[in-house]
This record gives sequence, structure tokens and C-alpha cells, in this order.
Amino acid sequence: MNALEVSDLSFAYGAREALKPMSFSLPAGRFAALLGPNGAGKSTLIALLTRLYDLQRGDIRVGGHSLQSSPRPALRQLGVVFQQSTLDLDLSIEQNLRYHLALHGFSRRQGSARLDAELTRQHLTERRHERVRDLNGGHRRRVEIARALLHEPRLLLLDEPSVGLDPASRLALGLHIRQLCSEQGISVLWTTHLLDEVQPSDDLLIVHQGRLVASGQADAVSQEHGGTLGSAFTRLTASGVRP
Ligand code: ADP
Ligand code: MG
Repeated sequence: MNALEVSDLSFAYGAREALKPMSFSLPAGRFAALLGPNGAGKSTLIALLTRLYDLQRGDIRVGGHSLQSSPRPALRQLGVVFQQSTLDLDLSIEQNLRYHLALHGFSRRQGSARLDAELTRQHLTERRHERVRDLNGGHRRRVEIARALLHEPRLLLLDEPSVGLDPASRLALGLHIRQLCSEQGISVLWTTHLLDEVQPSDDLLIVHQGRLVASGQADAVSQEHGGTLGSAFTRLTASGVRP
């Protein structure tokens, strides 16, 4: 079963069309990069996937559940890290996470087990009592990822997770997230405007001016549209081009 199915989805802010009708699916256990320049519509898509915005047209299914008609089971399968950090800087890692365990309805004991498992998975166990304010950007991102995975979703959405990170942290984060896919079967949708965050074996969706202009395995997309990912991206996102 696909982790995510998007069918004929479009969206407008008033008269401004932000997403033109698009359809795509993500198989389970895959890392998918959603690549597009600023303003392409990436965050709008994330807002629709997380039900921040009501659907205007089309359908979204998460793990087979329609976000419209079965929002609870659909959202239950979803973890999200938004573009802007929403951690409380003055609380420790553990305090930030405990609050969300309570929100998800875990008992103290169940919650402690989930907390320990997620801190281990994100390599944060030794830092659990540190204040978020004292962490570097890469570790802060990991806290957000731990938080997004507390309720064991099958699909993790990350909106430009590498913004503000130094190159080494960016690389480490990408490796870490791909490992979650390959070793634990989690599906990931990672948005970015940076070409070097896409690996040849990733699934790739390229959006430009609200339009899905290419999709498929990244190396196949590159070959089909220019040879390298750089030339394919330039060709597909040149203004005025309507493939
Ligand atoms: P991205 O995340 O790829 O940078 P966005 O989804 O944020 O793109 O934006 C897509 C388009 O929608 C842009 O043209 C942006 O200006 C517009 N847009 C985004 N949010 C709003 C909003 N709240 N009201 C009106 N237009 C918006
Ligand atoms: Mg954005």
C-alpha cells in the first residue's frame, strides 16, 4: 500500500492559484524529495497534507485513509516537522517531548517507553536534560524529528529541514533520515530548494510555479530531462517553460 496518494489536488489563495492540479503517490519505506524554488508551492502542499488548510479540490490518502472522510486514522499515520521550529527554547529536550506525549494521550509509563525509544533513535539520550536553547541547529532539528515520531507515524513530512544548518549537519541529517526509511520502513517527504540534497536513488518530485513538472526516481528524472540533475532542474524550472 502507498504511504501517500495525492489525486488531482489543487489549491488557490483567493484568486491566486498556488497549486495546479497534481497527482502522485509515495510507496512505503521510501525517501522522496520535493524539490522546487522558493514560491513553488511546497509549504502549501505540506499545509494541505497536514490539514492546516481545507481541501478545495482533489483527494489525499495517507496509508489508504482519506484525509477528508477519515481524518483521524489518516493523521494518526502522519508526523510533521514544519519549516519554522516550534520548540520551547527554555525547556529541556525531555520536557518538550513529554508535553507532546501527554497530548497524544500516552500514560506516564507508555510515554516513558516511547520517549526512551525515540531519544535513542535520534542519538539524543545523553542530552535529554539539556535546554533546547543550548543545542546547535542540527540537534534542535533532531528533537523536532523525535517529537514528530513519538506516536509512531508511517509517513514523516519535513518542510525544508536543512535551512539554517551548516553543511556537515545538513549531510548528517540527510543520512539519518534516509536510514529511518531503509532500516525502519518509514516513508519521508522532504522538501528543499537545494539540488545537492537529492540523491540519485531518491524518489523525486519537482514543482515549479505550483505545477508538478517531473516525478520518478531522481536518476531517471535527470536522464530524461537533461543528463544531470542540475541541467534537468534548470530546464524544468526555466520561467515560461510548460512541459
Ligand atoms: P514554497 O514553500 O515552495 O516556497 P509556498 O507554498 O510558501 O511555496 O508558496 C506558494 C505560492 O503561494 C507563492 O507564490 C506564495 O507567495 C503564495 N502564498 C503562500 N502563502 C500564502 C498566503 N497565506 N496567502 C497568499 N499567498 C500565499
Ligand atoms: Mg516553504
